[in-house]
Amino acid sequence: MSTSASQNIPPIALPFVSERAKKLLDVVERFVHEECIPADPVFFSQVGTGDARWHGHPSIIDELKKKARTLGMWNMFLPKNHYKNGPQFTNLEYALMAEYLGKSTIASEACNCSPPDTGNMEVFARYGSPAQKDQWLKPLMEGEIRSAFLMTEPNIASSDGSNIQLRIERRGDYYLLNGSKTWASGTGDERCKVYLVMGKTNPDHPDQYRRQSIILVPSDTPGMKIHRMLSVYGYDDAPHGHGQITFTNVKVPLDALILGEGRGFEIMQGRLGPGRIHHAMRAIGAAEYALEWLINRLNDERKKPFGKRLSEHGVLLEWVAKSRIEIDASRLIVLNAAIKIDQMDAKFALKEIAAAKIKVPQVALEVVDRAIQVHGALGVGQDTPLASMWAHLRTLRIADGPDEAHLQQLGRRENKQRKDEVKRRLAQQQAKTEFLFHSMGVDRKELGAAKFNAKL
Ligand SMILES: Cc1cc2nc3c(=O)[nH]c(=O)nc-3n(C[C@H](O)[C@H](O)[C@H](O)COP(=O)(O)OP(=O)(O)OC[C@H]3O[C@@H](n4cnc5c(N)ncnc54)[C@H](O)[C@@H]3O)c2cc1C
Repeated sequence: MSTSASQNIPPIALPFVSERAKKLLDVVERFVHEECIPADPVFFSQVGTGDARWHGHPSIIDELKKKARTLGMWNMFLPKNHYKNGPQFTNLEYALMAEYLGKSTIASEACNCSPPDTGNMEVFARYGSPAQKDQWLKPLMEGEIRSAFLMTEPNIASSDGSNIQLRIERRGDYYLLNGSKTWASGTGDERCKVYLVMGKTNPDHPDQYRRQSIILVPSDTPGMKIHRMLSVYGYDDAPHGHGQITFTNVKVPLDALILGEGRGFEIMQGRLGPGRIHHAMRAIGAAEYALEWLINRLNDERKKPFGKRLSEHGVLLEWVAKSRIEIDASRLIVLNAAIKIDQMDAKFALKEIAAAKIKVPQVALEVVDRAIQVHGALGVGQDTPLASMWAHLRTLRIADGPDEAHLQQLGRRENKQRKDEVKRRLAQQQAKTEFLFHSMGVDRKELGAAKFNAKL
């Protein structure tokens, strides 16, 4: 008999989850399984073909949004310690819900919980002025408009944010923007009304992390040109899309700057912590969904290679077992990070967030790959969601910083924090060992001492 989502919360996380969150978690589970997953193929068909893919959006998403809102599933991602007018869940509680949202392509948007709006709304909620909140946060929270976050640029290594070149120059009572951006997710959608743009306001500041700022640019501002949309392993992700954009003498008022000049990195840090937890939990959900496909295929009576059902081939059952272990271990990594964010804030949980950001997409990719393999050619085609899932999970190892950059930071931090303590403790232990040998009159027993010492 299957158990509900709230009954499956790992015991380690359970004491931190309210009864209200458990109830909604079960509603989210049912909504995703019964409404969103069946609607995914309808969404893809409604996107249409050719240029129509970039005009309007599938009506099924509006239907699902109405249902989700009626059932109380709306903006659950906005953490209660940052925003009093949200639905008041913790990062941990939302992380548990995000896992289910990750099983469907459209469930996150149906609940107004999809990136990049989630991160952008958090920026407005935490750092926006009252006027910025009024103009942008309100319609975003209502699900009336969408938004994009523009940091990456075409001709630099954008994994190091200090390289960002787009120039934001103050000219009297306005700022002038010049430069290029790429991989700007969401810019294909006609509902995308505001861009949060990272650029350089203070190129000569002695601290390279105080040269950047984030400024708001309405998407219909003159001087911006979307040249083309980019594809992910051939998927265009319409109507959302990923745009390549140039800025030529784009004029925005001074009050469009968020928080102040030189505060861009500070805002980025606040934006990315919880966002990485959301990505990771959705990836766990995708991995769970792939495992469901894997198990379903193993039990397909029609498939009997070499005279045995797939489930009778030991190696395939081993894949099920490995997937189970790896998903469960990864979930604990993410939930642990969410609990730490809730206890203080994202800065307190940098190590745990990085671990989740690095580990989970790798595990999810491995599980999806096994599910693809067990489906044979069917797995790489369009008749299962697996190929598309693999393509999108693969981008998580690059988007929002590549694995290598996060590993380097995590390694550097771990080394810095621990090197003195580790050196001291090991030296003390070795000294104590020498003291014990000496004080107890015990001879050190060396391997082969009787035979080899003679030859020294
Ligand atoms: C589907 C998708 C959606 C995206 N959406 C957005 C968006 O909405 N907004 C936005 O601003 N950007 C977006 N991006 C861009 C993404 O954030 C960048 O691609 C990412 O930060 C890496 O930057 P880069 O492509 O310039 O790679 P580079 O910085 O050039 O890095 C290339 C490679 O160099 C290696 N490398 C980098 N640093 C290190 C290191 N410290 N140690 C060892 N090796 C290293 C890694 O192998 C890395 O993959 C998106 C990308 C994808 C694929």
